[in-house]
Amino acid sequence: MTSQNKPNSRRDLLKSMAAAGALIGASAAATAAPRKAAGPFLPITASARRELKKAVKGQVLWQGEAAYESARGNAVYRANKPKRFPTVIVIAESDKDVVAAVRFARGHGLKVGRRSGGHGWSSAHLRNGAMLIDLSRMQEVEIDAKNKTLWTHPGVLGSRLNAELNPLGLIIPTAHHPTVGIGGFAMCGGFGWNSRLWGNGSAHILAVDVVNAEGELIRADETQNTDYLWAARGAGAGFFGVVTRMKMRVNVLPPVMKLSAYGYTADVLEELFTWARGIVDKIPPYMELVIVSTAHDAKTGLASPVRLTVAALAITETHKQADDALAILETCPVLSKATFRRVGIPQDLEQRYASGYAADPAGYRFAVDNIYTNAPAAELVPKLRKLFTELPSPRSHVFWLNWGPTRPFPEDMALSVQGDVFLAAYSLWEDPAQDEAMEMWPVNQFKDLRSLSVGGQMNDENIARSPQRYLSDAANNKLEALRERHDPHGVFLSFLRSVT
Ligand SMILES: Cc1cc2nc3c(=O)[nH]c(=O)nc-3n(C[C@H](O)[C@H](O)[C@H](O)COP(=O)(O)OP(=O)(O)OC[C@H]3O[C@@H](n4cnc5c(N)ncnc54)[C@H](O)[C@@H]3O)c2cc1C
Repeated sequence: MTSQNKPNSRRDLLKSMAAAGALIGASAAATAAPRKAAGPFLPITASARRELKKAVKGQVLWQGEAAYESARGNAVYRANKPKRFPTVIVIAESDKDVVAAVRFARGHGLKVGRRSGGHGWSSAHLRNGAMLIDLSRMQEVEIDAKNKTLWTHPGVLGSRLNAELNPLGLIIPTAHHPTVGIGGFAMCGGFGWNSRLWGNGSAHILAVDVVNAEGELIRADETQNTDYLWAARGAGAGFFGVVTRMKMRVNVLPPVMKLSAYGYTADVLEELFTWARGIVDKIPPYMELVIVSTAHDAKTGLASPVRLTVAALAITETHKQADDALAILETCPVLSKATFRRVGIPQDLEQRYASGYAADPAGYRFAVDNIYTNAPAAELVPKLRKLFTELPSPRSHVFWLNWGPTRPFPEDMALSVQGDVFLAAYSLWEDPAQDEAMEMWPVNQFKDLRSLSVGGQMNDENIARSPQRYLSDAANNKLEALRERHDPHGVFLSFLRSVT
C-alpha cells in the first residue's frame, strides 16, 4: 500500500483541507473570514424565548425541550445524524413565520440554517448554537399548466410535483429519489429527469420569494433582485436568505420512457469503462447512461460479488427514438459477457422513483463524495478498479454518469461546474461503531482520482471532509461579493467547513 492510498488520518485530512484551502469554488467561500457581527445583541432570556413562540404560528423548539430532539433528527434524512445542536428549531408554517424567525435571529445574534427536504448529505443546516428554520411543513403547490410553470414551497418533495404534473402531461427534473426536497435539489444544481436535455434543477427556477438578512420578504426574478435569483440557481448552502417559494418552469411530458440494463462482472471493468468514456459524445441528450457497482443481491439484500450494471433511461417522443438511443448499449465490446440483458423496458416515473428509493432507503447511515472529470479513458480507466470494486458494505455503491458532452452553463446561474463524466461514491451502513471509517470511505476512494477532477457536484457535496471546486472561480467570487453586499453581518450560515 502506498502512502497515497492509506486510510486518511485526521492530520492528513486537515493538511488536505488546508492545501485545498481555496476550494469550494476554489477560493474564498471555504476560507472566508467570519463576517462582522451586527451586535450588540439582545440576550436570549426566558421572555425572549416566549416572545419567539408567540411570534411564530408554527412550532418553536428550544434546545432541551421535549420535542426538540425528534425535530432535530427529522431534519436530516440519513441515520448518522450529525452531533450538531441548534439553539432553536423553528418549524415554519408560513412566510410570516420565517420573517419573524429571521428578525429574532438577527436581533439576538443567532445564525440561521435552512432546511427544505433535509437530504443535503452534509446537513449544512444543522449547526451548534444557531437557529434552524425548517420549511418542511409548508406544502403548497400551484400549477399553471397553460404557461408551463408552477409555484412551490421548497420543502415539497420532487416526486410529489411530478405526481401532480404527470396527469397534466407535464414533468420537471427532480432527484431520482422520491423523498428529496425540490428546494435543496434545485438550489444546489440538481441532476434530474432529462436534465441533459432540459437543464439542471437550477435552470428551472424562474423566481424566488426570499426572506433576506433584513428580515424582509422580497421577490427575485429576471427584473428585480436579480442577485438573489442568480444565487438561488446553484449556490446551495452559500445562499444568503431563506427561500420560501419558488417559481419553476416545467416541461411537456414525452410519451415514451424506456429503460435498458445490462449486468457485468468486475472482470470486464476496464473494457466497460473504456467503452463508456468513448461514447460520451454519442449519447443523445434525452438519454442518461449510468454504470453502477453494487455488492448485494437485489432481492435478498445479502452480500454478493461486485456487479457492474450499465443502465440507460430514454425519455423521448417516439419508440423509435428511444430504441435507437438505447441500441448504443449493444455496441459494448464485452456484450457477450453480460450476465443479464434487459432491453427497452417501458417505465414510468413511479417505477424510477421506487428504484431510486431501493438504492438509498431510509434508515441507513450514509456518506458521499464525487468528482466531475474530463480525463480521457487512458488516464481515467486505470484508476477506476479500486473505486468501483472495493465496496465497504453490501449496500454501498459507486456511480458513473455520462453527463457530457457538456454545454456551457448560462451566466445567469451560480451553477458553474460540470464535466463529461460524473463519478460518485456512496457508503451505506448500519452500525454506529463504523461511522468514522465509513464516513471517510468515499473521500479516501477518490484520493487517486483528485488529480483528474475538474470539480465536484454540489448536490452530492461533502465540503467539510472533501473541499473541492464546487463553483467556478468567477461564480465563487461573485457569490462572496453578493454575500458581503446582501448579508454583511453573516445572518445566514454558509457552506459547512467542519463536521463538528
Ligand atoms: C437519497 C438521496 C438521493 C439523491 N438523489 C439525487 C439525484 O438523483 N440528483 C441530484 O441532483 N441530487 C440528488 N441528491 C442530492 C440532493 O439533491 C441534495 O442533497 C439536495 O440539497 C437535497 O435537497 P433537500 O431540500 O432535500 O435538502 P436540505 O438538506 O433541506 O437542503 C440542502 C441545503 O440547501 C440549502 N437550502 C435548502 N432549502 C433552502 C431554502 N428554502 N432557502 C435557502 N437555502 C436552502 C441549505 O443550505 C441546506 O443545507 C440525493 C440525496 C439523497 C439523500
